Amino acid sequence: MTSLSDFLQARLSERRAQQLYRSHKTLAAAPGPVALVDGCELITFSSNDYLGLATRPEVIAAQQRGAALGAGATASHLVNGHFEIHQQLQHKIAEVTGREAALLFGSGYMANVGIINALVGRGDVVVQDKLNHASLIDGGLISGAQLLRFAHSDVAALERQLRRARAAGDGKILLAVDGVYSMDGDIAPLAEMAALCGKYDAWLMVDEAHGFGVTGSKCCPCAGSAAAAGLDQDSAPIVMGTLGKAAGNGGAFVAGSQALIDYLTQFARTYIYTTGMPPAVAAGCLRALELMQQEPLRQTLDQRIDYFRRRAAVLQLPLQQSTSAIQPLVLGCEQSVLAVAEQLRNSGYLVGAIRPPTVPAGTARLRITLSAAHSEAQIEGLLRALVSALRSVEVTA
Ligand SMILES: *Cc1c(COP(=O)(O)O)cnc(C)c1O
Repeated sequence: MTSLSDFLQARLSERRAQQLYRSHKTLAAAPGPVALVDGCELITFSSNDYLGLATRPEVIAAQQRGAALGAGATASHLVNGHFEIHQQLQHKIAEVTGREAALLFGSGYMANVGIINALVGRGDVVVQDKLNHASLIDGGLISGAQLLRFAHSDVAALERQLRRARAAGDGKILLAVDGVYSMDGDIAPLAEMAALCGKYDAWLMVDEAHGFGVTGSKCCPCAGSAAAAGLDQDSAPIVMGTLGKAAGNGGAFVAGSQALIDYLTQFARTYIYTTGMPPAVAAGCLRALELMQQEPLRQTLDQRIDYFRRRAAVLQLPLQQSTSAIQPLVLGCEQSVLAVAEQLRNSGYLVGAIRPPTVPAGTARLRITLSAAHSEAQIEGLLRALVSALRSVEVTA
């Protein structure tokens, strides 16, 4: 017999010994490019607020006005928790994503679990990229559908799994992928994937957590990576996006045909059995989406990404292929990642030190994220601090 406290202590000690123990940083407020972290002022390159909307006075003011509608929704959306402001936000999301309709969820995690479980179950197959976000993987596991995974963004490996899934019976096949990978910043080959879905009668679901707001097509510049790949509602029928990243607020959505939205309203359990989005959050999201449409924030972000990559190349930093706001520096070993992050912090910069199990073993990394709110001088400062941190860690390692 193991007591609860013995069990907890054993697992925690094991985590510490592996350099995988995680602890909170405590911020005084949402980070703009500068944040007060545990009492120290740091320039942050770790948030997902790619457009700087979380700290925009217009968005905060909209949230405050939204709070006048009630501090909470007081019930689930299908009971009495669905307000006009939610309806307006859903219409705005449909417009921004170029889809017929949209449905709000409490978070991206809940959206992914709810969508997958409403669409597939026992006797069906979910095909997933090996590097998919945990919420897609968990959604697949909970559904009871057979889970088939394929090597990251490998279209030939994907086709082998789709063929296998088709051979397994005439159940439904759902292909779920991240559009932009959260820890690598690379973009899925969505056009090829959509073509394979057509060939094997599979349904494509794209998680736009890191694509919504920051990439898109000519007509829908903020719709996300599916739009950027030229995919419309027929070729990418299920688009999920979050409102806590580029939109700067919180919550999530699915966008697609009116029939898809009607169906998920009836059958997505994480939509039905939970309290509606607080009206203040819906109001903040609505204002953020308007700013996304009205201002060239995406272009500013693209300039910052370009500046970062050009300067990093000059400084000979080992960058990945990513052209998105997520710019990882893979160091491999957990200890080096922690040491470099610590040194950067001492120089006044906050970056994510990402270790397994968030990323595969042996690929621990610094996850640097850029925002339209960063100045070139702040980026230059980070790069210089990085060069000297990498040098000094190598010396002492
Ligand atoms: C952050 C994230 C989610 C979860 O969204 P939340 O709203 O934070 O729950 C889902 N998928 C991906 C790819 C993400 O990066």
